[in-house]
Amino acid sequence: MAVTEGILRRQSARESAARTYARALPIVPVRARGLTIEGADGRRYLDCLSGAGTLALGHNHPVVLEAIRKVLDSGAPLHVLDLATPVKDAFITELFHTLPPGLADHARVQFCGPAGTDAVEAALKLVRAATGRSGILAFTGAYHGMTAGALAASGGACDVRVTRLPYPQDYRCPFGVGGERGAELAARWTESVLDDPKSGVRHPAGMILEPVQGEGGVIPAPDTWLRRMRQITAARSIPLIADEVQTGVGRTGAFWAVEHSGVTPDVMVLSKAIGGSLPLAVVVYRDDLDVWEPGAHAGTFRGNQLAMAAGTATLAYVRRHHLSERAAALGSRMLSQLRDLAGEFPCIGDVRGRGLMMGMEMVSAGAGAGAGASGGGGFAGDSGSSGVTGPGGDLAGDLVDIGAAGARESVGGPRPAAPDIAAAVQRECLRRGLIVELGGRHSSVVRLLPPLTITDEQASAVLDRLADAVESVAGSHTAHDEPRQPQRRRRRQGDRAERAG
Ligand code: PLP
Repeated sequence: MAVTEGILRRQSARESAARTYARALPIVPVRARGLTIEGADGRRYLDCLSGAGTLALGHNHPVVLEAIRKVLDSGAPLHVLDLATPVKDAFITELFHTLPPGLADHARVQFCGPAGTDAVEAALKLVRAATGRSGILAFTGAYHGMTAGALAASGGACDVRVTRLPYPQDYRCPFGVGGERGAELAARWTESVLDDPKSGVRHPAGMILEPVQGEGGVIPAPDTWLRRMRQITAARSIPLIADEVQTGVGRTGAFWAVEHSGVTPDVMVLSKAIGGSLPLAVVVYRDDLDVWEPGAHAGTFRGNQLAMAAGTATLAYVRRHHLSERAAALGSRMLSQLRDLAGEFPCIGDVRGRGLMMGMEMVSAGAGAGAGASGGGGFAGDSGSSGVTGPGGDLAGDLVDIGAAGARESVGGPRPAAPDIAAAVQRECLRRGLIVELGGRHSSVVRLLPPLTITDEQASAVLDRLADAVESVAGSHTAHDEPRQPQRRRRRQGDRAERAG
C-alpha cells in the first residue's frame, strides 16, 4: 500500500496537469495478462479499457511476447528509420492480407509517426497533396487525435479549413427524429453543403470519418449512411478517409469496421491494435493518391521493429482465430444484457455499440431534454443504439429494432447527460476491481472495450461488477432515480469473478 501511495503521490507532484486516465484510475499496474491487471498493492482488476482500445489480445498475450522476444534474440537492428527489413516485410504482407479487397489490390502504405494522430496528420496531408485542395469535411462528435490537424478535424475544435457535418445518431439525433430518417437528413445536409454554390464550402480535399465514433460516445454509423457518404464523395472526386484507429482489427465484429457496410475507402488510418500493444501507425491508401515526392512525409521513428513484429502476430492471430466473429457474437450478447440493465435503472439512458465496442449513456432524472430527442426510435438493426449483428449479418442494415432504452424515451426525448453519475459508476467499478472508460460529448458514456480474447466467464464477471456498481450508484440517487423494477438482489461476483480474474 505504501509503495502505491508513494508512486501516486510523486506522480501527481511531478507529472503534467494534462494527465488523463491516471486521474480516474489511481492504480499502479505492475503485472498484467489478458484481461487482468495487478496493482502494486496486490489488487487485481478486469481491464475493459484495454489501453484505450489498443489491446486486441489483452495484456502480454503469449504470441505477442514471443514475437517480440524473437526479434530481440535475433540480433536484428531495433532502429532502422524506414529501411526495408524482413520484420517490416512480414508486417506489410499480413496487413495487406487483411485489407478490404477493393483496397488491397491497389494499396500503398506509409509508415508515419507512431501514434494515431500522426497517421491522421499524414492522411490529411496526403489528400491535400493529391487533390491540390485544402478543405476537409469532418463530423460532429469526431475524435481524431491531439496534434494540430487531427484536433482541427475533431468535434471540439474550430478551424476555417474544416467543414463540420452532422454525424447521425439515434439517441440525440441533431434533427430530432432519429432512425433512418435522421441518418437520411444528415446525408442530405452533406449533399446540399457540397452542391450549393453559396454554402460557403469549397470543393474539399477529403472527408474523414470514424465508422463508429469511439471517444464521441460509442456511436455506430448506420451502414446505409456510410454507403451514402461513399457515394457522395465518389461522385464528387473527394477522397474518403476512414479513421479505423479505434475500430480496426476485429473490434467491431468485422476485421475493419468499414466492412460492415461494404464500403471501400480511399484512405485508411490505422494505429492502436496494429502494433500489438506497442506504438505503430500507418496510412494505407489507393496507389493513385501516391503523389508524394521522396521525403515529403519523413520522420525518425517510423520503423519500430518490435511493434511491427508484435503487430504481425496480433493481426495474424485475430484473423486465424476469427476473433472478429467472436467480437460480433459476444458483443451482441453483452449489449443485450446491458439493455436488460437499462430496463432496471432509469439512470441508463441508452445502450449502444458494435462488437466489443460498447457504451452506456448515463442520464439524470427529470423530463426529456427536448433538443436532440430520439422520437424516431432505433435505426438499422446492425448498428445504432438498438441492435448488433456480426459480419455477414444484414448488410442492408435496414431492420428497425427499437432498443429498450431508446423505446422508453421516445416520447419525452432523452434526458440530460449525467457525467457525475457516469464518473460515480466508473469509481464504483474500480472499487469492485473493474476498469472502464468514460467518453461521449459530456463524458457521460461508460465505455467497455474488452480484449477480443475475453472469455464468456470473464464477460459475465465484467457485467456482474458493472451491474453492481450501477446498482450502488442508483441507490445513492434513489430520491429521484427509482429503479424501474424492485431491485433484485444480484448474484454477487464472488467465486465467478475471482476465477475470471
Ligand atoms: N482516431 C481515433 C478514432 C481515435 O480513437 C484516436 C484515439 O483514441 C486517435 C485517432 C488518436 O490516436 P492516438 O491517441 O494514438 O494519437
